[in-house]
Amino acid sequence: MSDARPLHVGRPNLGPREVFDRYVDRIYSGGWLTNDGPLVRELEEEVAARTGVRHCVAMCNGTVALEIAVRALGLEGEVVVPAFTFVATAHALSWQGIRPVFADVDPRTHTLDPRSVEAVITPRTTGIIGVHLWGRPADVTGLQDVADRHGLALMFDAAHAFDCTAGGRPVGGAGRVEVFSFHATKFFNTFEGGALVTNDDELAHTARLMRNFGFAGYDTVVHPGTNGKMSEIAAAMGLTNLPGLDALIDANRAVHESYSRALADIPGVEVLQPDPLERSNFQYVVAVVEDGAEARDRAVAALHAEGVLARRYFWPGVHRMQPYASWDGPAPSVPVTEWVADRVVVLPAGPGVTPDDVSTVRRVIASAVDGAPTPDRPAAARR
Ligand SMILES: *Cc1c(COP(=O)(O)O)cnc(C)c1O
Repeated sequence: MSDARPLHVGRPNLGPREVFDRYVDRIYSGGWLTNDGPLVRELEEEVAARTGVRHCVAMCNGTVALEIAVRALGLEGEVVVPAFTFVATAHALSWQGIRPVFADVDPRTHTLDPRSVEAVITPRTTGIIGVHLWGRPADVTGLQDVADRHGLALMFDAAHAFDCTAGGRPVGGAGRVEVFSFHATKFFNTFEGGALVTNDDELAHTARLMRNFGFAGYDTVVHPGTNGKMSEIAAAMGLTNLPGLDALIDANRAVHESYSRALADIPGVEVLQPDPLERSNFQYVVAVVEDGAEARDRAVAALHAEGVLARRYFWPGVHRMQPYASWDGPAPSVPVTEWVADRVVVLPAGPGVTPDDVSTVRRVIASAVDGAPTPDRPAAARR
């Protein structure tokens, strides 16, 4: 690579240092480090405005925000999640004694398939967590329909989807509650951080109590709770990064388009395209190597050898990770997840990627997948 540093997935997007320094000056002069401080409140207002929801409750990370959302909704028993997602979607349930039940994804969008959800609902099911994977919105209408017909709570893991749209509206307002991650590797980061967004006043109130040990005042505890608070330094990073997001999307889009053009003529390799009718943050460049796991792994190894730290993602599917793989009962039937998990490679993306980098990636992938046979897609993945 032209760059001395290896090119990797998830390089942080950092706003201007001098802006961050001014926020640090404010923290020092105010002496307020955490506990619903002024910068956290400012960030919450900005995020609520940007996502068009009534309430944003900032948290220490996306996983705790998911756990608090799950508790605030009163979920129990079984909750349906996609098998193809980051493991935290499922852990946020099992960590609090709720069983994640794995349903399959749509082969075109990699998001939860409402028909697959319907097939795994039991009398113990209380909710559904859709995931806007890669920033591509889940089928919000289809999932809401299933949730309504079965009397289930619907929420979304929107960790990838800050500043994206679903049905033309900003991600954040669908279901009962949506959860963002502001982790360092995400499109918008606060070092570590996350937020729960909702239009439900009572849910927001409960989540705020749960975030701070159930404190309703200085010394009055009214609810069970945990420590989910965002610190002022994290909010400072968020406020530093927010104004640059539009420009970041443009830069991300340019890199995404460049990869799409470069890889277009490699047979059996496809760059997943965002829905043209939605706004995307273009944070992930996802290539699908149709030949299967062997060719995909060959491509990843060849890229690593050239200093390009491309990654398999969510392999081999959350249902095949521990502890879920050894749970009692029949293994979930999620053929599309297995097809996708064997074929996805996530490429380094973002403003740091140069045209030379893209050419290198093209050359390496083309030679790694060359000559391998192309088996048919399974029926479930053909549509
Ligand atoms: C990153 C991520 C999370 C967890 O967020 P953290 O802020 O890292 O705790 C949850 N779900 C998905 C889909 C993610 O990508």
